[in-house]
Amino acid sequence: MNPVNPEPLNPCYKSPNHQITKSQNSFRLHIARWVVPVSRPPIENGAIATFEGKIVGVGPASELRLSYQAEIKDYGDSILCPALINTHSHLELSPLRWRLSPSGSFVDWVKALIEARNLIRREEWEPAICQAIKEMQENGIIAVGDVGNLDVIPLFSSRKDGTWPFRGVFFQELVCPIPNEAEEEIPLGTSFVNGKVNESLDILEPSFRYAFSAHATYSVAPTVLKAIKAWDQSHGMPFPIHVAESEEEIEFLQGGQGPLRELLKEKGHWPLNYDLPKASPVRYLETLGLLDKHTVCVHCVQVDQDDISILAKTGAGVCLCPRSNVFLGVGVAPVEELHASCIPLALGTDSLASNDRLSIFAEMASLSKLAPGLSPEAIFRAGTYGGARALGISEELGSLARGKAATFLAVESGPISNKDVLEFLVHEGCRELSDLVIG
Ligand SMILES: [Zn+2]
Repeated sequence: MNPVNPEPLNPCYKSPNHQITKSQNSFRLHIARWVVPVSRPPIENGAIATFEGKIVGVGPASELRLSYQAEIKDYGDSILCPALINTHSHLELSPLRWRLSPSGSFVDWVKALIEARNLIRREEWEPAICQAIKEMQENGIIAVGDVGNLDVIPLFSSRKDGTWPFRGVFFQELVCPIPNEAEEEIPLGTSFVNGKVNESLDILEPSFRYAFSAHATYSVAPTVLKAIKAWDQSHGMPFPIHVAESEEEIEFLQGGQGPLRELLKEKGHWPLNYDLPKASPVRYLETLGLLDKHTVCVHCVQVDQDDISILAKTGAGVCLCPRSNVFLGVGVAPVEELHASCIPLALGTDSLASNDRLSIFAEMASLSKLAPGLSPEAIFRAGTYGGARALGISEELGSLARGKAATFLAVESGPISNKDVLEFLVHEGCRELSDLVIG
């Protein structure tokens, strides 16, 4: 059980009413009391016109009915909105659901995680990952930015049997506190898993792409951080990294002290062969030239106003994982300040080792409580367009607009007013999701 938020397990499951509908290869008009495109204000009595897997029109139903001779599907008192994006997960850790509890120390949790991960038996992955996939689908998630150190998810996602439903990116995460000085350059792109060339790179579905991520500034040497960013940049991919998740991280980067130093020592990664920056993680990343609009700083709990100014200046995005932060007791990100500085926000669940469910609806509901100054519009945008932008898939997903994928959610709302539509999605979306339409 999650002791922080003792809600019942998986209240979001909505089977058997929840349906996944594949749209037909003909003009269709999906009409509902409300359409929430995200890219523009909600439309009352709205419609989405689709054809061959694409959205061809969004607007008032009365107008679109005149424009398209189409088969009509009427969702009644429902909200049609973009499917959700889980910008940060670690699906390979799914067997660890319920196995770790927060200890009050971030580093103690990291140690427990490493130990528990090493004890996962090969046969545990299949059922745990299948369950995680099902849970994310049932919670309206269509794309994921999944991070892993193993080959479990690349192999899973490259199956041809249709068990992998998500678009997005798999990030091979590197942990490398001390680079091998004998290597002149980091062999990214040719090394994939444990230094071996892996054909997964070629067989991944084109809609689920592949890139590299760095674990954190305290666990990856500056030369390796730069190499990872350079690889992602040259391949047009985003660069995610855990940033400012805990006070221990700040303490370590500032002066090389604290429990993280002990952890590195314990793992044989001390002393380092470079100087620590004596700066915040955000400033350090800026100094290394690694912050730009394609960098996704995951967490950003322990950031101050200077850090926020740097993020805003460089255009870097932030992926919030509020339920994971609460679970680990590391604090609450200054979300209102980040939003006020126009920093693009996305939402992630992080892993089942620090969360009890994989639901962006649940993250939105939690964020609303933790950051009451943030509007429901901003929260819903983070769970949809913000995620698509962070993963580089906003031309296809994240909002409802002409040319994007005909993929959206139908959420039963009853007859609600304009001012309540976004609030309803943020607070009640997961309980009332009835349909995931995939074009
Ligand atoms: Zn993470």
